[in-house]
Parts: sequence; C-alpha cells; structure tokens
Amino acid sequence: MTNDADKAHSKDKIDVSVGGTVLERYFTGKTEAAYVADNTLFLTADYVNLIAFETSDGLVLVDTGMVEAPKIFDEIRKKTDAPLHTVIITHGHMDHAFGLNPWLEAGEKPRIIAHENMTRRFRTYMRLAPMNIHINRVQFGMEADIHWPDKEEQFPWPDTTYREQLTIRVGGETFELYHHKGETDDSTWVWAPERGIVCTGDLYVGMLPYCGNPQKVQRYAEEWADGLEAIASVGAELLLPGHGHPIKGKDEIRKRCLITAETLRSIVKQTLEGLNAGKTHEDIMASIKIPEHLAKEPYVDPLYDKPEFIARAIIRRYGGWWNGFSSQLLPAKMADQSKEIIRLAGGIEPLVDRARELIDSDPALACHLAEWAALGAPDNRSAHECVIDVFNKRAESEIALIARGILSHAVRKSQKALATLE
Ligand SMILES: [Zn+2]
Repeated sequence: MTNDADKAHSKDKIDVSVGGTVLERYFTGKTEAAYVADNTLFLTADYVNLIAFETSDGLVLVDTGMVEAPKIFDEIRKKTDAPLHTVIITHGHMDHAFGLNPWLEAGEKPRIIAHENMTRRFRTYMRLAPMNIHINRVQFGMEADIHWPDKEEQFPWPDTTYREQLTIRVGGETFELYHHKGETDDSTWVWAPERGIVCTGDLYVGMLPYCGNPQKVQRYAEEWADGLEAIASVGAELLLPGHGHPIKGKDEIRKRCLITAETLRSIVKQTLEGLNAGKTHEDIMASIKIPEHLAKEPYVDPLYDKPEFIARAIIRRYGGWWNGFSSQLLPAKMADQSKEIIRLAGGIEPLVDRARELIDSDPALACHLAEWAALGAPDNRSAHECVIDVFNKRAESEIALIARGILSHAVRKSQKALATLE
C-alpha cells in the first residue's frame, strides 16, 4: 500500500465530517492518475472514479468516464503503456460507461465485460434519448446541451456478459465480478482477492444510496442492501468506490457498508409496514425516520437522494401509483384546479401574499400556493415572481441534489415565463 491511500483516507475523513455537497464529496482531489496500492491506478474525472489494475498481461480498467475520457486516457498513459486487456463497466450510466473511444482510437482491442442487463439498458437509452436529456436537465438544474447517444455505434456494447457471478483471470490474477441490483439493474462490483481491493461501482458512494430518484426508472433498495452486505463480507483492505474517496481498512469498510445497508433496510421495513397498515402514500412518507444510530453517520447523509423518495420508489415497486385520495384517481387538470382556487380566494394576491407569509414557517405549503398562482394565472408577473422567490428559498434549504434540482426547475420555468411577458 502506498502513501496515496493513506492520504485519500484521511482526506475522506475530513470531507465526510464537514458534510459538503455531493460534488464536494465526489471530488477526491485525484485528477491525475495516482497509485493507491501496488500496481493500482486511481483517478477522478467527470466526477467518477476510474481504476486501472496493472497486470502482467495488461490493464484491467474498471469504468471509463465520459466527457473527460481523452484526459483519462492521457493520465493513465502517463503512468503505463501496457495494453488495455479488459474493461469492466460497473453499470451503463453515462459517466461510467461512455469513455472508451480514446482507447479504441489508439488501437486497443480490450475485452468489454458487463452485466447482461447493460445491453437492454442501452437499447432503452436509444428509444428514450430525448426524455433522458429532458429529465437530466431538470435533475441537474441546467439548460445546457446534454449529449445522449441514440445510435447503435455510440454505445460500448459488451462482448462478455454474465448473470450472477463471473471470475476472470488476467496476468495470473483473479478478478471476481458480482451482480447486485442497486441504482441500476445492471450493477457489477469487482473483488480482486490477491490485492484485497474491492471496486464497488455506485453500490457504495459514501452517502445515502440513490434509490428513490423521482424521475427515473425503478431502483432496488433491498438488493442494494444485499450487495453492500456481500461487499462487507469479502474482507477488503481497500474499497474504491464509483464516486468519492477510497476507504482503507477492513473494519472501516465493513462498518460503512453494513451501516449503509441497515439504513436501506430500515426504510424498506418502514415503508412495507405502512403499506400493510393501509396508510396513504403521504402518511408513509411523513412517517419515515432513519434511526439515530444510523442517521448520525456522515456516509449515509441524504446528499443526493432523500429517504422519502426511496420510500416512494418502494411503494411504486410493490404497489400502484394511486396515492389514496379519490379525487386524484381521475383528477381535474392542475391548471383548472388552480383557476378555481384563485377564484375562491378572490384573486391572485391572497395566494401570493400567503405564500410569502409561509415561506419560512411552512415552505411546502408556500410552494403549493405559489404554484397554484402561476398555473392558474400564467400571464401574471407577481405569480411568477412569487414562484421564483418561494422555490428558490425551498431549494436552498434542501441538501439533496435531486430535490434541489427539481425544485429549482420551477424557478427556471417561471423565469422563462417572465421573459416572455416582458
Ligand atoms: Zn455513478
């Protein structure tokens, strides 16, 4: 083990204790390829971690990056000119899977290994490229062009897939690949037993697992917990996550994986109990509470996703979408409801004034009032100004990146509406 791993670990401790945003936690400081263990290169680019294992038969690369792929290629090539033997893609998300081109353009012909579901994921991406561009703009709060592949030749199709477990030997070394569903249904984590190193992909990222994303396809909380427990059981001395800082030390790795798994199991248990008790979705979400001995651990901070969103995803998985309020089974359009609320209130001003009054004491209710005002009176300036102020304030108070992004989407919509009114 080199000094780098020690430094990474102590930096990790500092960052984790001070909280910080998702991107601060993701940033390991290793933008140049650095050895974190013997013959093990690690770097962070595109906010994702890349690992290159040097073996006597060439490199085994875990994940590939995306936009910064040329830089990743250059960085690894600064350290080694060994051929690229094998690429393992931990899951088909853009930031992990779409960085192979510089290697291929340089003439490398690696074997590409992934879970068998990654192929189906890519086929879905091809069918839903515009949708994915839209929901990612909302999630990350940006209007910028997002590149989303939609042509067959743009995808890193694996040539080797597996279903449950695959053991490969490269340069006389063993790499064990395991599948557990988590954020995706095509997740792979990699255990290198001779090195004592585990690469978790996004099954461990040092914060509350992202399994409740409001706009995205089903996530798998229980299987995610299974995966974390399996990772905890291998006895790794170094954990290299898909995002964020490496973790060193068998006990620390085990503890963090098990606490994270227990957190997920607690949310699942509370949600299923709520469903069995016949509670409405809103009552289930309001009742979710992370037990204190788990919530105090910074590596389950809800920085990206929220426990309430995870509960919703569990409800969706096991139940239907109807939320328990009969009027919402076949509802009037929100704009029509809003117009009627404005009419009953005697105009827009009472809604706007009340929203501003409630902005601190009940921001959720303030958001409803502001949204009704803007939906019911889309040409009214003060309604949109109210949305901007109320949703900005609410977004600022949220620590979960996804919640902030979607709340500030309302702000951007009203800013656009205001621009057209001028
Ligand atoms: Zn990721």
